[in-house]
Amino acid sequence: MSKKKFKTEVSQLLHLIIHSLYSHKEIFLRELVSNASDALDKLKYLTLTDDNYKKLKFDPRIDIKFEDGDKKKLIITDTGIGMNEDDLEAQLGTIARSGTKNFLNTLSGDEKKDANLIGQFGVGFYSSFMVADKVEVLSKKAGEEKAFLWISDGENSYSIKEAEKKSFGTTITLFLNDEGSEYSSRWTLENLIKKYSDHIAFPIFLEYEDTTWEGEGDDRKEKKEIKVEQVNAASALWKKSKSDLTEEDYNEFYKTIGHDNEEPLLYIHTKAEGTLEYTTLFYIPKKAPFDMYQADYKAGVKLYVSRIFITDDEKELMPTYLRFLRGIIDSEDLPLNVSREILQQNRVLTNIKNASVKKVLSELQKLSENNQEKYIEFIKEYNRPLKEGLYSDFTNRDTLLELIRFKSTEVEGYTSLAAYKERMKDDQKGIYYITGENEDTLRNSPLIEGYVKKGIEVLIMSDEIDEIVIPTIGTYKETELKSVNKSGTADDFKTEADEETEKKVEPLIKKIKDALGDRVKDVVVSKRLSDSPSCIVADENDPTVQMQQMLKAMGQKDAPEVVPILEVNPTHEIVEKLEKVSDNEFIKDISFLLLEQAMLMEGAELKKPAEFVKRLNRVMTKAL
Ligand code: ADP
Repeated sequence: MSKKKFKTEVSQLLHLIIHSLYSHKEIFLRELVSNASDALDKLKYLTLTDDNYKKLKFDPRIDIKFEDGDKKKLIITDTGIGMNEDDLEAQLGTIARSGTKNFLNTLSGDEKKDANLIGQFGVGFYSSFMVADKVEVLSKKAGEEKAFLWISDGENSYSIKEAEKKSFGTTITLFLNDEGSEYSSRWTLENLIKKYSDHIAFPIFLEYEDTTWEGEGDDRKEKKEIKVEQVNAASALWKKSKSDLTEEDYNEFYKTIGHDNEEPLLYIHTKAEGTLEYTTLFYIPKKAPFDMYQADYKAGVKLYVSRIFITDDEKELMPTYLRFLRGIIDSEDLPLNVSREILQQNRVLTNIKNASVKKVLSELQKLSENNQEKYIEFIKEYNRPLKEGLYSDFTNRDTLLELIRFKSTEVEGYTSLAAYKERMKDDQKGIYYITGENEDTLRNSPLIEGYVKKGIEVLIMSDEIDEIVIPTIGTYKETELKSVNKSGTADDFKTEADEETEKKVEPLIKKIKDALGDRVKDVVVSKRLSDSPSCIVADENDPTVQMQQMLKAMGQKDAPEVVPILEVNPTHEIVEKLEKVSDNEFIKDISFLLLEQAMLMEGAELKKPAEFVKRLNRVMTKAL
């Protein structure tokens, strides 16, 4: 038997669990029972679909017993799929999910103490080390001959050796530490199992020693007897009728399947009868799953066929943009042995998926109408995935447009497009928005000065994804969405006075244009600026500065250089004074500075900072 070191991330995780979850230490039982239940699910599926397993004598159950001797022990046995040597090594020596490691590295010191955050990624098996100073896992894989024993003290290493075990399945023995000693008690265990695992679909038996008294008076004798009792209801919760379930039932079930310590934000339980028969139970976690923005995120919805678990690893069950959903789809109309390929093209499943998406979105709409506070909690976590839906789910686009929220120059917090429309001025020509990297910069951008002054609301779009998604919206209820980063938009405000001013500054505009040459696409008189002397915008069909930066970041290094249009504020003091200047070199310096400051405000890079500084110094010398 050789000792093997845990992978660093396991040691890290163990350390985290022990130091941040100690006040929730009882969850270890939920995690172990949930693993046992998964193992039973997997074997049940095989015995029903795979000829190699059909002959197997399968008595699905979970047994829990405790020993109260010198060293207190808690022993949990399941008759599930079991693990062989390689499984033990891979499952209990590393963290299988690659995302977990990255996630651990991004946590700050404070976050590492946040039990909910740590609980979020399913601490699983390792949580047993909160209550035990040694753990043994004895396991025999169904259909195989050999059994193996995995042992660890949860410090740095573990060992695996061959061992004896009669029947397949897994027995986990916890050698309880001081913190865990309370779990060698019938009542504590019974309460915990009821609380966390009542709705586990397999029976959970608790073994205990019962003491009774027999006889009368002096003949009275103590009688000790080992009893085994089933403690959970062992029925699939989602199959029960809503009226038989309390909010607490729903919440506890969520904690088991979602590996979350917090209650869910929302649950949606649907039973469909008729042409298609299915049950769905969906949950929205309060906090977005840690791997929501990772390509290898874990699917959160499990598929059952007539209560029999089929898979928890099928991302196509729900559209990608709803990947934060947790829960269950249970269909009566699918064959048990559906392959992955069939699953993905199956009509029954497609129909269930479409109906489920509609249901979830309509429940969200109800929430937004009936409980705004809770809805905003939802938006803070999930606004961005909903926006992804705008370009991936065209069928539900109209509903999504009602659900998505925006920051705005007019209101604190968030607004909907519907509310924006209500506030629009009578002659307003569109729904205006500005895109860019950072909310603060956008709120102070010269591009929106004129709008703010005229009391016209501008939506602030600082999500990275906005640059791609928002232009695809086009119109909302017949009102066009217009980017203020683009050149044409400001013409919406053109007045007769503007035309006069335009005429007046025409000669100066020409001079600036000549000075800047091919550094700009055009120089125009601005109708939107109020306090700033200049700004840059993108030509109607050109990508904005932010879009160009994004394309670059995505590796499109040789995308053609796009030059901006420079807008000049004719009423600004600098511009008014510049009209009277005749020194051409000086006009050139000022023209460049007008362009360069506008670029800086937009977050664009200056190609030749040295020349910018020289110019600035020449002008400063002149001014002093
Ligand atoms: P998770 O359950 O989130 O995958 P765990 O750390 O709890 O994480 O478990 C890791 C893996 O070990 C499981 O995915 C499963 O493959 C295996 N495993 C754990 N407990 C059992 C068990 N009782 N029977 C069979 N396999 C198990």
